Amino acid sequence: MSAFDYDLFVIGGGSGGVRAARVAAGEAGAKVGLAEESRYGGTCVIRGCVPKKLMVFASEYAHMPDEARAYGWDIADGSFDWTTFSGHLNTELDRLEEVYRGLLRGSGVDMYDARAVLKDPHTVALSTGETITAKHILVATGGRPVRPDLPGADCGIVSDDIFHLPELPKSVLIVGGGYIACEFACILHGLGVEVTQYYRGAQILRGFDEEARGLIAEAMRERGIDLHTGTNIVEARPAAEAEGDEMTAPVEARQFGRAEHGTEGYDGPVWVKATNGDTKVFDRVLFATGRKPNTDGMGLEDLGVELGRNGQIVVDAYSQTKVPSIYAIGDVTDRVNLTPVAIREGMAFVETVFKGNPTPVDHDLIPSAVFTQPELGTVGLSEEAARDQEEVEIYATSFRPMQTAFAQKPDRVLMKLIVSKATRKVLGCHIVAPGAGEMIQLAGVAIKMGATKEDFDRTVAVHPTMSEEIVTMRQPVRTA
Ligand code: NDP
Repeated sequence: MSAFDYDLFVIGGGSGGVRAARVAAGEAGAKVGLAEESRYGGTCVIRGCVPKKLMVFASEYAHMPDEARAYGWDIADGSFDWTTFSGHLNTELDRLEEVYRGLLRGSGVDMYDARAVLKDPHTVALSTGETITAKHILVATGGRPVRPDLPGADCGIVSDDIFHLPELPKSVLIVGGGYIACEFACILHGLGVEVTQYYRGAQILRGFDEEARGLIAEAMRERGIDLHTGTNIVEARPAAEAEGDEMTAPVEARQFGRAEHGTEGYDGPVWVKATNGDTKVFDRVLFATGRKPNTDGMGLEDLGVELGRNGQIVVDAYSQTKVPSIYAIGDVTDRVNLTPVAIREGMAFVETVFKGNPTPVDHDLIPSAVFTQPELGTVGLSEEAARDQEEVEIYATSFRPMQTAFAQKPDRVLMKLIVSKATRKVLGCHIVAPGAGEMIQLAGVAIKMGATKEDFDRTVAVHPTMSEEIVTMRQPVRTA
């Protein structure tokens, strides 16, 4: 008979927390409780990957009538109805949330629809007033989007808000150049919104392979996204307030800020001033300027759990915090912020703590995709990172794919391999193409197995496909 209410108490019902809870209960026979203050499924299912991907699908139909006509179809351009789409989207999210609840129920996990905070290394207090004890506590509270610290930032929306817009704006300014900014620039453009994007750096998608970044930026501009690099905003305000002379007065003089003007929840047109001095009004401003781990007010530091500079929980290779009974997985640890990684971390935690098989999390060679149009699929090192490490050969080809070339579209794709000169191992693979996310999953298996360039060479091409180029590049385009 345990001295605790539970063997494991999980805080957070997102992808990582739900997986750890149900595997610990279902496979390891642990007594498990889980608290979720919002909706089951977390960021990925409710306000991230899933609704985003459905919006990607919705937006991709935009160019189909034009292409279909080139293939001989007598087909008219249509129009997109946001109300119909968002109704279907919400029904689907409700269904998925119920699937997540069902998975927990089926594994025998007790669910608490409440916020939980830590009281001591084995105790959590719930917003319902209950106090619960557990031998192990797993924090899987994820992260949230953050607005930049600038006057009037509350006038803008963040990615969570996109799925609840009552109607699509006619124009939007997207601030940022990361995954979320670029994906939503393409989605909203596809849905018919006039998209302007400001990114403060020289090229979008910092950290990815430079050639891939360049091709995506070019494709986004070609499709009509007004992308400005080296540009940021210095101030935003409700457009009506900005009318008149006062809008040219210095920011300090107007003392404009979140608290003073209370613009939270504002949903009218937004006036913005850019770093180059330009001023413009947009129906909406979307801040896609990064995310922050959800650790505020949880009592973590008081217990001795170490937090990093971004508020993330510091853990070891087994996801254990400085307090031995408390573990953390997923975005709240700010390691690699991707759903499948959080799930892996949850599985490794259960393996380590409940199955007696200490399992560190393997964060090496994680394939991932950015769902821009065209998509970017990537695994391993960029050319820039690889050449800093060792001598490499670069194999790359860029071409117009058959399907869209036939329809006289300028779209180009890129297939690129980074190969170690010394070991011949493929260190990185970068694909910019429709369906690149699907392709990179499979290339990821070979690269994770340590495939060499010669292994790629002896694999027969699948013809005619775009991805066959990945096994038919004979000569390096350069060495570095
Ligand atoms: P990122 O960290 O990828 O991008 C944030 C962007 O905002 C960067 O371009 C950054 O610029 C810019 N930025 C940050 N602060 C400011 C500021 N004060 N003013 C102006 N610009 C600013 O965050 P995201 O929110 O796009 O995504 C968060 C994470 O979510 C990703 O890292 C990824 O792990 C995950 N994700 C994964 C997806 C996928 O797998 N397809 C999709 C969406 C999210 P700079 O580059 O100069 O720092």
